[in-house]
Amino acid sequence: MNKSESNQEYSEHLRHSCAHLLAAAVIELWPGTLRTIGPAIENGFYYDFDFGDVKISEEDFKKIEEKMHELVKSWNGFEKNEVTEKGAKDAYIGNQYKIELIEEFSKEKQKLTFYKSGAYSDLCRGGHIENPSKELKHFKLLSVAGAYWRGNEKNKMLTRIYGTIFSTKGDLYKYLKNLELAKLHDHRKLGKELELFAISDEIGQGLVLWLPKGNFIKEEIENWAKTTETEWGYQRVTTPNITKSGLYFTSGHLPYYKADMYPPMTLDDGEEYYLKPMNCPHHHMIYKNRPRSYKELPLRLAEYGTCYRYEASGELFGLMRVRGFVQNDSHIYCTQGQAVEEFVQVMKLHEFYYKSLGIKDYYLELALRDPENKKKYHGNKEMWVLAEKLMREAVKRVDIPMVEKAGSAAFYGPKIDFIIKSSTGREFGISTNQIDLFMGDRFGLKYVDKDGFEKTPVIIHRAPLGSHERFIGFLIEHFGGNFPTWLTPVQVKVLPITDKHLHYAKSVSEKLKEAGIRVELDDRNERLQAKIRDAQKEKVSYMLILGAKEVETKTVTVRARSGEAYGPYSIETFISNICQEIAQKTIN
Ligand SMILES: [Zn+2]
Ligand SMILES: [Zn+2]
Repeated sequence: MNKSESNQEYSEHLRHSCAHLLAAAVIELWPGTLRTIGPAIENGFYYDFDFGDVKISEEDFKKIEEKMHELVKSWNGFEKNEVTEKGAKDAYIGNQYKIELIEEFSKEKQKLTFYKSGAYSDLCRGGHIENPSKELKHFKLLSVAGAYWRGNEKNKMLTRIYGTIFSTKGDLYKYLKNLELAKLHDHRKLGKELELFAISDEIGQGLVLWLPKGNFIKEEIENWAKTTETEWGYQRVTTPNITKSGLYFTSGHLPYYKADMYPPMTLDDGEEYYLKPMNCPHHHMIYKNRPRSYKELPLRLAEYGTCYRYEASGELFGLMRVRGFVQNDSHIYCTQGQAVEEFVQVMKLHEFYYKSLGIKDYYLELALRDPENKKKYHGNKEMWVLAEKLMREAVKRVDIPMVEKAGSAAFYGPKIDFIIKSSTGREFGISTNQIDLFMGDRFGLKYVDKDGFEKTPVIIHRAPLGSHERFIGFLIEHFGGNFPTWLTPVQVKVLPITDKHLHYAKSVSEKLKEAGIRVELDDRNERLQAKIRDAQKEKVSYMLILGAKEVETKTVTVRARSGEAYGPYSIETFISNICQEIAQKTIN
């Protein structure tokens, strides 16, 4: 076992042990409560209880935590006891949940074990720390939620208490701080407050409406990507949003991916059309539009392509998981000899984008197939091995850390995901990349090589900026709504101190508008303090405060979003400074 694995295992034991402690405290405080299960999860643990008629809320947490601290003093270890089925059932008379588990474990011929600490004992498979009284210290209960027994909505709704624990006070504090920040930075909350996007029940779940302010961000990013990708040798194409079913049988999305697609529309002649779940097959048809020569390769076709996927309603989450999205997509058709270099360039393009946006924390996740699962994965073994080898070769040529994950490949090949971390520490899978040796053959794609023979191109799939939806969701959380000026929907707010300065304020606004700056004039009859407060809430980059002195000297006094004041400057100087900041995409 390497160090990070043993750390991981220790964290899991620590978290699960703390779930025991939580249950012990609950039973002391509400003796009639029925216990069920209490596993470790990512970043913490939970325990599901049936409290009967008692309603538990976060207000009870202090009391429970105090009881946990009190009880743990007498917990010197986890003492293991093997019991018979009858013995186990006797310990849980009246608790149908534990009885159900005991019967199931017995049927599976699993050993039944109890673990006891202090006066508290619970049915458990094991996986604990050694010195609870010393190690179970830095914990915190976080939230309470309803959860169906065994996740089945036909079962009774239980009360789930979530908590977290760390081995040091500092780690716990850091985690709680990040949680607080994540709440403030929540893209759904900020998206509403800043009027960036909306989701309307009348239109449908998971279908995003970009409001005018959010649309500025979307278009800035799209224009940036278009210019950048043209410089990097891509050609732009546009493809339709619906397609006949036959194309998806060729690609294998039907039937393999059917559950994730919207149901088809059937025409009078019986022909079925699907909303496209991905752009790949369409780009392949553009490649196939005419015979290709090796001289044209690598051929890089790029599109901001609209896709629809029928995600389960329980999975939908703000901009992060949606049913309709616009993807920064491209497919690169090249020879096998070009594949590694092209893939290196794709990763460099990612690095360029992320660096420009001040995203420093990211890594790669190599998703491999589970060789045992023949049903889920297509193609021959050699193809899988070669695709993996080429991608690994490319990764060696860039300086980005990589982890591996078996069993999460696409059905037609291994893939590499870029995982980026926001300023709150949350991880987002943004972009999926592949060297695909499978689809070219499947679609009958060819090129005539130097030697005059027809060969099949390798296809590289990539989407560095993911979809607008997910990527902007990430940016909202990462910047907490304080976007760099080039992305800020309202870059400058002009604030005349009184009506007397309105005329001058209008002429300043006009000049900024002429320079291409997104500006708004606050001409309300409000006090300056109120105007500043509102502009601050809107998170505009700069406020220009204009009073008698500014009118007289034809200048502007600048207040940045951070609260810092600059100036007075001449209007020309301010325009030249902000235009430079926008052009250089400065991160402030
Ligand atoms: Zn346990
Ligand atoms: Zn693709």
